[in-house]
Amino acid sequence: MLNKILSDLKPYEAKLVAVSKTRPKEAIQAMYDKGQRIFGENRVPELVEKNEALPKDIEWHLIGHLQSKKAKAIAGFVSCIHSIDSQKLLEVVDKEAAKHDRVIDVLLQFKIAEEESKYGFDLESVKHLLNSDAYKSMKNIRVSGVMGMATFTDDKDQVKNEFQNLKKIFDHLRESHFAKDAQFKEISMGMSGDYPIALKEGSTMVRVGSLLFR
Ligand SMILES: *Cc1c(COP(=O)(O)O)cnc(C)c1O
Repeated sequence: MLNKILSDLKPYEAKLVAVSKTRPKEAIQAMYDKGQRIFGENRVPELVEKNEALPKDIEWHLIGHLQSKKAKAIAGFVSCIHSIDSQKLLEVVDKEAAKHDRVIDVLLQFKIAEEESKYGFDLESVKHLLNSDAYKSMKNIRVSGVMGMATFTDDKDQVKNEFQNLKKIFDHLRESHFAKDAQFKEISMGMSGDYPIALKEGSTMVRVGSLLFR
């Protein structure tokens, strides 16, 4: 499956985050041996444990909801956090990264799905954040793009609309706040069930788990 997914991504030059949550270390090592280096986890304790046991050149991405008090445990090694959904969380990640003298890439998670349960910002609160003095003084995070999850539905038009919405938010922010920042370039959208749609709508990073590891 890895090669099939990689060949789907190729024309779009999109990256694969291999979502390895709940998978045993042996399965991750096997995927690593095939050349995959970016892995995504959604729980902090599991991520910490796997980081300790697996090769050091793995690029670990946290893709699930992060509680502020757990940022400390991953700040020393995580390379990208997809799930920044509040100003307070971003402040904590910046502070914890500073203790390790690191800069952590972060994505701003937007609520694009209609389901009530999905975490994420709306555009107004992100603008408020990006205009704040607190944000301007952050030296240990780099906002490198946006992330979103579409509604879990068979309605392809709805999923497509939600991805288009995230792309619009990205374009808007790039113009309004990141015109001079080439690092603001990632749109993390698309999972096992909907990544082909996400790619067509401008995804630069897909997060695929069940399809890849089965
Ligand atoms: C589990 C998960 C994925 C991967 O989902 P699959 O359907 O298994 O591909 C992607 N993103 C997030 C945030 C997840 O929690």
